[in-house]
Amino acid sequence: MFTLAKLPYAYNSLEPYIDEQTMITHHDKHHQGYVDNLNKAIAGYQDLQDKTVEQLLSDLDKLPVEIRTLVKNHGGGHANHSLFWSILTKNQGVPDNQVTKAIISDFGSFDKFKDVFSTTAASVFGSGWAWLVLKKDKLAVYQTSNQDSPLSQGDIPLLTLDVWEHAYYLKYQNKRVDYINAFFNIINWQQVNQLFLAAKAKT
Ligand code: MN
Repeated sequence: MFTLAKLPYAYNSLEPYIDEQTMITHHDKHHQGYVDNLNKAIAGYQDLQDKTVEQLLSDLDKLPVEIRTLVKNHGGGHANHSLFWSILTKNQGVPDNQVTKAIISDFGSFDKFKDVFSTTAASVFGSGWAWLVLKKDKLAVYQTSNQDSPLSQGDIPLLTLDVWEHAYYLKYQNKRVDYINAFFNIINWQQVNQLFLAAKAKT
């Protein structure tokens, strides 16, 4: 069965960009809910319980049709939030490493990437996520709705921002753009780089 990992930092570590109360509710209630509902969905399916959530999401078409949407939503909720927590950290700069070099190469400049990512996140209608992914051997930015995962379209997620209102409403209310700008102060680029190198090794 799937379990919720503890955050790799304190709930208040991301202040003032993401507030402590949002982190507590988001991790302990929202993310826990996705884990619980994913476990419920696959409870009667012994063969699925040995798979990772990434494996489940990569092959939605192979799942029994009666639980496919549940796994997409709750498995996606589990995987997306796990990635999101892992790519956040205390305020730090943008290092000069392999992934930031690839960003500059594929988007023209770091600022252009930031513009594309921010616009993509700001324009999610309703609930969803903005992503930096490795698509074949190129970086790409796009959005998904609800809890849809890039894994389900064959891409490898490297960086993500949750733009569901529950991710920012306590502190930012309707000002999603301020939340997106704040996000760029707390990205764990070392972790994004590790994910990038692992993804490149697979392609
Ligand atoms: Mn969320």
